[in-house]
Amino acid sequence: MANKYLFTPGPTPVPEQVVQRMSEPIIYHRSKEFREIFARVNGYLQTLFQTKQPVMTLTSSGTGGMEAIIVNLFSAGDKVISVNAGKFGERWSAIGKSYGLNVVEIKIPWGETVAVPQIIEALSIHPDTQGVLLTHCETSTGTTTDVKSVAEVVQKYSNALVIVDGISAIGALEFRFDEWGIDACVTASQKGLMIPPGLTFIALSNRAEQSALVSTLPKYYFDLNKSLIAYENNDTPWTPAITLVRGLEKSLQMLTAEGMGNVWMRHERISKILHEGLTGLGLKIFSKNPSFCVTAVFLPDGIEWGNFNSQLLSEHNIIIAPGQAEYFGKIFRIAHIGNIDDSNIKIILSAIEIILGRMHDERTKREIQ
Ligand code: PMP
Repeated sequence: MANKYLFTPGPTPVPEQVVQRMSEPIIYHRSKEFREIFARVNGYLQTLFQTKQPVMTLTSSGTGGMEAIIVNLFSAGDKVISVNAGKFGERWSAIGKSYGLNVVEIKIPWGETVAVPQIIEALSIHPDTQGVLLTHCETSTGTTTDVKSVAEVVQKYSNALVIVDGISAIGALEFRFDEWGIDACVTASQKGLMIPPGLTFIALSNRAEQSALVSTLPKYYFDLNKSLIAYENNDTPWTPAITLVRGLEKSLQMLTAEGMGNVWMRHERISKILHEGLTGLGLKIFSKNPSFCVTAVFLPDGIEWGNFNSQLLSEHNIIIAPGQAEYFGKIFRIAHIGNIDDSNIKIILSAIEIILGRMHDERTKREIQ
């Protein structure tokens, strides 16, 4: 079977060494062997999040981690400000509303990012805000939120908790949980962590842990107080996805050996090469503040998404992602998160050049006839 090149914003390519680790025989999770693996994983996760706080591992996709944050830190009627600049900001609002939170939305046009004064204004209108919900990389638009600056003003002007969806960003974008004063951050396994889907990870500040003790929203499987207690013994309350945790040990070993600073720089470098290459081909980047994780690109006039996508797949074994919601058929998205380097970027750029060149020639021929 030919190798497929995954340029999707999750799952991302899984390194061969990680695949090998996951193919080792299954072990019992209530064993010394598993606890030792989990202890090492927990240490690496703290480096990944740049925190001294526990980083909990839950068996779920990232959305479960988002829900866990909402049900653990808040009670019905609590007011939160949700920055909705795309599909995943919208998800924060939807989860909050479904648990009866009072969600104040800052709606941002797709492809744009929230400006710090908008946060200050919202906090001054709603001084009783208890949480501010952010998306570090809005995967639907390929846009980065300046989480550091937003966190700074939230701390300056309010007591609200700063909550970050880092699902497509952690392991790709610079992120410093402790230094930036983040109160809760969630990520998932199938992006920057370079393993298959199935795990989500949450860090809470001491303040957020206090909120978790008084929150009255219903929870059982996702009760983070239970996870925190188990964490003390390098354990989990329920059966974890053991195989994924084994793969994770390897992938985190690789990331920490490269060094988080170098990992972030690699993502910045390859996304700049990609942006320049795409612009050089006459394409237009969708986002006004492009992320180093996902690049959203306008489909050129006359190029149909289905045709473009199927040629990338059938001729070049490349899989990319479509635009979402109203941008389906208008933009396409190339993810460059995780196990991606310069050579992958060259492969996708040359494939796009070949396909667009041919489509252009065919159009010109038709016009002449
Ligand atoms: N938030 C962001 C920023 C994402 O990119 C994604 C996945 N594309 C999610 C949330 C949802 O995660 P999952 O599909 O793992 O539930």
